[in-house]
Amino acid sequence: MDKSQTEKLATRLSPEEAAARSGIDAKRIVYLIEYGQMLGETGPQGTWVSEFDLETYVNGMAVDDELIRAHKAHRHLMWGLGNCAACDRMMPVPTGTDERWVCSEVCARQATEASLVPAY
Ligand SMILES: [Zn+2]
Repeated sequence: MDKSQTEKLATRLSPEEAAARSGIDAKRIVYLIEYGQMLGETGPQGTWVSEFDLETYVNGMAVDDELIRAHKAHRHLMWGLGNCAACDRMMPVPTGTDERWVCSEVCARQATEASLVPAY
């Protein structure tokens, strides 16, 4: 078995392992995979999700929460998804503006040093 195969196997998580990492109930993880809301696989060897796909799902939930918060905090702006100007992480950004936004204080500092932008 070569290295890439080993890595692939290593990143396969059972619903229980995925639950322990994400805090999402294992039964819900199986449900999400079966209904295609989380990428993963169900088959004769059971249900599993890759570490990467689990992370993507969890980060997506976090971004949804941030979008809701952004709408509440700045109702006069329209919010959509964009990327942090400093670290490129997915984040809410106001639509219809060319301003570049950052996701955190750490990124705000980096952006200021690189003379990019204001934090949200
Ligand atoms: Zn950032």
